[in-house]
Amino acid sequence: MKLLLLAPPGAGKGTQGERLAAWAGVRHIAAGDLLRDVVRAGGPLGAQIAAYQARGDLVPDQIVIDALTPVVVEAAAHGGYILDGFPRTLPQAIAAADLALRLGVRLDAAIYLYAPDEVLTQRLLARAGQGGRSDDTADVIRHRLRVFAETTGPLVPYYRERGILVAVDADQPVDSVTADIQARLTELLTITGSPRDVLAARAGQAPAVPPAVPSAVPECPDKSFSAGPPERATIRRWTWMVPPASG
Ligand code: AMP
Repeated sequence: MKLLLLAPPGAGKGTQGERLAAWAGVRHIAAGDLLRDVVRAGGPLGAQIAAYQARGDLVPDQIVIDALTPVVVEAAAHGGYILDGFPRTLPQAIAAADLALRLGVRLDAAIYLYAPDEVLTQRLLARAGQGGRSDDTADVIRHRLRVFAETTGPLVPYYRERGILVAVDADQPVDSVTADIQARLTELLTITGSPRDVLAARAGQAPAVPPAVPSAVPECPDKSFSAGPPERATIRRWTWMVPPASG
């Protein structure tokens, strides 16, 4: 199974990613953890990444793609992966699509965990109170939520248009979120063996992103992502075209 988790900070993607990976028997690949590993290893690259993370800014796409690619390649050769926190930008999404194409695999679903900003903020502040991460301060949390809304939010319509978005309410007990995700995926797998096919078939009737989505995420900022020409991204040696949305 190949899934990705798209979620604002505090929505529980780390927890759900681990559970989902154990459930599906595939590797959990957490972009933030991988980047923190590079920081811990030291050196100039680690210092550069640490500075972005401390501010709550996104690490530049090429650094993230370089860190993630070998891990994704390895996981794809061993049955699949849960990508947690990657992609977070449109160029990263295009890079992920290209990588999957080159590996001859395809993404089954993009799971979008949504919850109101106040809930997310409270959770992160509570985590900070329990000795959580250095980027769990009120100012940095506010900034991370804004970065999600502005930069990662557009990936919601991006995956919905490709017929693979599964939106799940993350403002409920953690076990209920897990159960909802598993029920949705099981339903899809049981029906056709491929969640992607069912989601694609339903794309025309897919509900709009629920109103509880962080208010700053535009409901449908799709103009630049929808029916237009295929997006092109240039990152180092890759220039990719992704197929236009089928739904
Ligand atoms: P997370 O552990 O997912 O909350 O990520 C923590 C921080 O790592 C983020 O605030 C970013 O600075 C960085 N980061 C994680 N994933 C990405 C990504 N896909 N692209 C850019 N920066 C990322």
